[in-house]
Amino acid sequence: MALSGIQIYKFLPKTNCKKCGFPTCLAFAMKLASREVELSLCPDISEEGKAALETASRPPIRLVTIGSDSKKVEVGNEVVMFRHEKTFFHQPGLVLRISDTEPQEVVTSRVSEVAAYSVERVGLQLSLDGFAIQNKSKEAASFVSCIETVRAKTDLPLVLISDDPGAMGAGLDKTAKSKPLIYAATSDNWDKMAELSKQYQCPLAVYEPQGLTELAGLVEQVNKAGVEDIVLDPGARGFVDSLSLFTQLRRLALRKSFSLLGYPLISFPGEGAETLAEEATLCAQHIAKYSGIIVLDHFSPAMAYPLLTLRLNIYTDPQKPMRLEAGIYPINEPKADSPLMVSTNFSLTYFSISGEVESSRWPCWLVICDTEGLSVLTAWSAGKFDAERIAKAVKQFAADKVSHQRLIIPGRVSVLRGELEEELPGWEIMVGPPEAMGIGPYLKQRWAG
Ligand code: SF4
Repeated sequence: MALSGIQIYKFLPKTNCKKCGFPTCLAFAMKLASREVELSLCPDISEEGKAALETASRPPIRLVTIGSDSKKVEVGNEVVMFRHEKTFFHQPGLVLRISDTEPQEVVTSRVSEVAAYSVERVGLQLSLDGFAIQNKSKEAASFVSCIETVRAKTDLPLVLISDDPGAMGAGLDKTAKSKPLIYAATSDNWDKMAELSKQYQCPLAVYEPQGLTELAGLVEQVNKAGVEDIVLDPGARGFVDSLSLFTQLRRLALRKSFSLLGYPLISFPGEGAETLAEEATLCAQHIAKYSGIIVLDHFSPAMAYPLLTLRLNIYTDPQKPMRLEAGIYPINEPKADSPLMVSTNFSLTYFSISGEVESSRWPCWLVICDTEGLSVLTAWSAGKFDAERIAKAVKQFAADKVSHQRLIIPGRVSVLRGELEEELPGWEIMVGPPEAMGIGPYLKQRWAG
């Protein structure tokens, strides 16, 4: 059962020494109760207090790492049901399933394509996270051969899928250093799979479709066998049952502190879908609620890009706007007489403008003001994108880059034109289009004209 702040406070040293970064022990206790900090921040707590507070300080959903230090996926450690309550911390790993019955050249080609796939969005490179290799042949030799084929092409994290502990052991012999996820311990094989998990120090998925009580019972047995890094598969595959079960699991972990089910989840959207579109839609559902690892059966750039974008959107912190460094950014190799524009440092604004300018092929300079990550109208209404700041940024960043005195401001803040003419005497202040998509035609008509 979770402890309240006052209950936690009783176990703290009560010296208010501030070593934890909080002004009082009570303030620290309150943060600990809401699971926003870790107990280890207090260096002076007694062993007795530590033992008593173990539950309170334990993350409600365990953080599980799949892969080695260089290439890994970390899942779990979430503390809220809804992103707007705080944030979601660890985005689900998206992996593609490969079967050991596929011809070697097909495996090589699929793995090469997916491992090389990467798209840029708001300055970040987005890609899939790894592969799940399934022992569909039921033969250890084919499983090992497929693992070797995949490993020859990528060092991305792996999920190894087999219900045969013998085949799993043979596979782990080949790739245990990279700490793959073992899928899965069942009511039939859990003892042998738990042994493999301990022997190779790899996380273990627990599969139990009979119900949550049975799943918790199996997890308890696996825990008692000494395995802590666990991923849960409650067996849900369709839209409705997976939404219902995954939500129940999240609630039990967060709201009831039910530690036996406080682990990240794994899902297989391809098994609950009849078409590619359904697989992608179900994957989107799992990204939002509440999968830790998602095993896809199909890959295409058209399917991956929206899913990766959705994942990025959901797993960015809503309290921290994505922002760029203030400065001047060249687009399409501008020269001293190229157009000069100004905007805010909200990443999405920058990438909308730069994308439109790039496709227009106009060489341009773009001055970015520090508006604390706010977009144009929001920053203007908050007083963070005013004439004084814009003029200062133009003088600071553009003075040695352009040979003219013409500045294009966003159309939505046309009211700044007069003030800017006062802040930048001798400059021509041009009002640009209200939307980024109008930049190309605008430059053609107004700058060239
Ligand atoms: S470090 Fe420990 S003793 Fe010091 S103020 Fe924080 S909780 Fe209290």
